[in-house]
Amino acid sequence: GTLGALELPVPAPRTSTPHEGEVVIETRSERKSFGQTEVLKGVDLKVHKGEVVAVIGPSGSGKTTMIRTLNAMESIDAGEVLYKGAPVGYKVSSAGLHKPVPDKQMARTRERIGMVFQQFNLFPHKTVLENVAFAPRHLGSALDADVRANALAQLRKVGMDAHADKYPHQLSGGQQQRVAIARALAMSPDVMLFDEPTSALDPELVDEVLQVMTELASEGLTMVVVTHEMRFAREVADWVVFMDQGMVVEEGPAAGIFDHPQRERTQRFLTRVM
Ligand code: ADP
Repeated sequence: GTLGALELPVPAPRTSTPHEGEVVIETRSERKSFGQTEVLKGVDLKVHKGEVVAVIGPSGSGKTTMIRTLNAMESIDAGEVLYKGAPVGYKVSSAGLHKPVPDKQMARTRERIGMVFQQFNLFPHKTVLENVAFAPRHLGSALDADVRANALAQLRKVGMDAHADKYPHQLSGGQQQRVAIARALAMSPDVMLFDEPTSALDPELVDEVLQVMTELASEGLTMVVVTHEMRFAREVADWVVFMDQGMVVEEGPAAGIFDHPQRERTQRFLTRVM
C-alpha cells in the first residue's frame, strides 16, 4: 500500500470498547421494502458511545439500506430508528401510523450524524477548503474565521491541509474520500456513518482511507461502517454485525465473529471472503 508515503499520525493501539453503555443509535425491528421486495426484515441494531460497529455481509443483504435509515436518508416502513432515544425520520403515532418527524428536529439530529459515502460526493466547483467549510458556514453559529480554522484543522487530521485550495478533480479518489471525511468531521458529529467508503477506490488507495478511519476509531469516535474490508473489520471494529437477506444473522465482538462464527451462513460468507 501507500501507507509509508502518507504523513499521517500512526494510530495508538486501541483498547476495545465493550458493547454497553450509552446507546447513541438504535434500530428496533426496522422493516423496509422497495416495491414488493422486503430488503430489511426486522433489523435490531445498537451502537454505543465510542464503539466502532462494522456491518458485513453479502451484496444485496441490505447493509447500505440499513445504514441510510440511521440518518433518515432512507425511510422505514415499520419499526423504529432512534438517535439517543428520539425517533429519527419516522415515528409511530398513537394510531400506529408512521409520521415524519418535524423537519426542524430532523435537521438538528442529522447535524449530529456524519455520513461518508462510497462515491465521495464532494461539490465539484468548490475547493477542498470550501467543501469542508460549507456546512458549518451555513449553520451560521460560528464566525467565518473560526469555520475556516476548523476546516483546516479537519483537513490536517486527514493529511489533506496542503491541498486546501485544489478542486476535487485534481485529487485522487483516496484524497477525495479523505476530504469527504474531513467535511463530515467539521460538523463535530456524535457518530459517523461510513457506507462502503473504500469500495470505489483503486486498491492502492484503500489503505490511506482506512488509516484515517483507524485513527478516528482510536480517538474514540463512534462509528458505523459498512465494509468489505475484512481486515479492517477484524482489527478495528469492536462489534461486528453480519447481515444476510435483510436480517442480522449473527453479531458479536470482532474476534468472536471472525474466529468462531456460530451460524453456518456466517461461516460460509467468511470462508468465501477471507
Ligand atoms: P447491500 O448494501 O448489502 O449490498 P443494499 O441495501 O444495497 O444491500 O440492497 C438490498 C436490496 O435492496 C438489493 O436487492 C437492492 O437491489 C435493493 N435496493 C436497494 N436500493 C433500492 C432502491 N432504491 N430501489 C429498489 N431496490 C433497491
